[in-house]
Amino acid sequence: MPPFSVFKPRLCVILLVIQHAVHVKPSNVSGNNSPDCPSEKINKYSKEANSKYLKYLNLIADAQRDYKPCNRDRCGCHASVISQDLKMFKEKGISASSIQSVKAKGTKYQVINHKVYREQNCMFPSRCSGIEHFLLEAAPGLPDLELIINTRDWPQIPKNYGFFGPVFSFSKTSEYNDIMYPAWAFWEGGPAISLYPRGIGRWDVHRKELGKLGNSSKWEEKIPKAFFRGSRTCSERDALILLSREKPELADAQYTKNQAWKSEADTLHVAPAQEVSFEEHCQYKYLFNFRGVAASFRLKHILLCKSVVFHVGNEWQEFFYPALKPWIHYIPVDSSASKEQLQELIEFASHHDDVVREIAENGYKMIWNHLRMKDVSCYWRKLLKKYASLQTFKPSRDEMLVEIKG
Ligand code: UDP
Repeated sequence: MPPFSVFKPRLCVILLVIQHAVHVKPSNVSGNNSPDCPSEKINKYSKEANSKYLKYLNLIADAQRDYKPCNRDRCGCHASVISQDLKMFKEKGISASSIQSVKAKGTKYQVINHKVYREQNCMFPSRCSGIEHFLLEAAPGLPDLELIINTRDWPQIPKNYGFFGPVFSFSKTSEYNDIMYPAWAFWEGGPAISLYPRGIGRWDVHRKELGKLGNSSKWEEKIPKAFFRGSRTCSERDALILLSREKPELADAQYTKNQAWKSEADTLHVAPAQEVSFEEHCQYKYLFNFRGVAASFRLKHILLCKSVVFHVGNEWQEFFYPALKPWIHYIPVDSSASKEQLQELIEFASHHDDVVREIAENGYKMIWNHLRMKDVSCYWRKLLKKYASLQTFKPSRDEMLVEIKG
């Protein structure tokens, strides 16, 4: 695959579209006369459509103006998340008693003399195994440490609960003090569906295959419709499903079964749809991501399709989400967006093909360049080193734990 050039926002395309919408002559705006800004782009957009969509074009122009590409080296794009999550422990450090106080919130692990130990029981064995892949990999370079890793979907340390201690969780909102770690599903233990019966794991394999497909897919050949397949893990998905039922020419969004499915009520009173592989998702131009119980694992996969991702809601985060910027790498959608608002956004995208194509390219590049498996391993390593440096005690081997071997 060819190396990617450093991201340089093509603000000019957006500015030309905005000028056209508000009847400003191109020469009145500085910096837009570069040969990179072919004036025929203007003609692709009708005056009416541009006025209607001006608010989105302005948001894109603002985002491009403010965007600073991140540092590529050594998982640097995600480093601020580690500082942010550990900030609250900086002053007092992490004591043995603070870890003890949150013991019931997850599974206890230790790294002692570069060996990994865990409580005998693990609530979700394949999730623990996905986590241990990274712990074993990092252990040779780590000092002794002790930590509690939550393998449930839900974070454990609400900010306003008055309860406090270091718990590692894969996903959280700003309402929680959990420390985010790269999810087990980067290696194994991801959701099992009929197409991926052993669970959606092995991000290294998915990334390579989807990245290749995304890079070779032709934008012009993608089906210009919004697409979503998934189960009803959150009702925020309903508006798109209902829009698709009313306007199938605009969206193909259907609910599939998950393990909790009992009747058609769980698929909004329609029979469940067949599951669709990530590769098939890539045939569509507009791909939707929603939260599930917490953040959904699909975001990183669909960004590799080089389709435009409509990311609904910004509340639920994973460690790499802050590096993804709205209107640069994806189209942000309010989590309470109505069918009408979704329709307007999809129509905006179809009226501004060049503009959203650039967003698709940027989203692809961010994941391809900065969410490599080595970035995930690097994040784990940095996170654990920083965490260990905050410990105010020297962990001693807990004989109740068993050694985990690779
Ligand atoms: N998934 C898929 N094809 C489908 C349905 C789901 O690839 O037809 C994937 C989806 O992208 C996600 C996982 O299966 O990574 C679980 O999806 P679901 O919607 O059931 O739950 P979520 O984890 O998103 O809440």
